[in-house]
Amino acid sequence: MFLLVMLCSCSRAASQASAENTAGSAGRNSAALGGDTAGTGQAGGEEELVFFDKLQRALSDALIPGDLSRRVLAAATEGPDFILDLLACMEGDPFLRRLVDKTHPLPDHYEPADLEELRGGAYQINRRSLMLRREAARALETMAAAAQVDGAILLASSSYRSYDYQEELYARYVREDGQEAADRFSARPGYSQHQTGLVVDFGSIDDSFAETRSGRWILTNGSRYGWSLSFPQGYEAVTGYVWESWHYRYVGPELAFFIDTYFDGIQQYALQFIHEWENSQ
Ligand SMILES: [Zn+2]
Repeated sequence: MFLLVMLCSCSRAASQASAENTAGSAGRNSAALGGDTAGTGQAGGEEELVFFDKLQRALSDALIPGDLSRRVLAAATEGPDFILDLLACMEGDPFLRRLVDKTHPLPDHYEPADLEELRGGAYQINRRSLMLRREAARALETMAAAAQVDGAILLASSSYRSYDYQEELYARYVREDGQEAADRFSARPGYSQHQTGLVVDFGSIDDSFAETRSGRWILTNGSRYGWSLSFPQGYEAVTGYVWESWHYRYVGPELAFFIDTYFDGIQQYALQFIHEWENSQ
């Protein structure tokens, strides 16, 4: 029952988190550590029901498949790790966890404020004027240094794209391949993860990247540095895009861990879940 009370306290704190300030964060932690140890009676049971009801609704609204939903619920039942890991994902910059897909655009003509030019270093760049948000640029440097130690040299080939650039790019693909084909591999302006300034396309930007030393290295190790494969093989029906072995989004180590641990490494599922969780009462 103690663990369940912890879960319930966290659940309540999670729903209030957006309204809380920094001081609230300390309160949340003390709640997570079992401030309400006496709550072993009826109240705890009701809160437990509220938490699992919200969890079930978020999983359902996020269209998480039944088998995966059951495993998430089982994990949440086992102890406080699931809710604590979820809260950790929700502490940072909201754009790191923001759902950006074919039906969830960025704010109108969104442009990140902290873009900086990539200069290479532990990684290579294929041209000048590649840009990322500051946190992602730092994380790329850290990951690339680790890859280098293992003999993999990462090459950044594409990164931030403005709304206007994506508009040109998408229009060109539609002209060349037709709209139906273009929609399978290119985002419409306003709907591209690249516009977040948190995404890197690595290497050759084609399927051969998966078989390279760098491609294998990032797939195995990227999440430890906060990088998550956005469009995995066999998930076009879920992500809306064909497999892109080269396209990684920086989500931060906490969310990357959460994606791997509870959602089989499928970023789209985890982001859909978090989106529904944050938007439900
Ligand atoms: Zn890409």
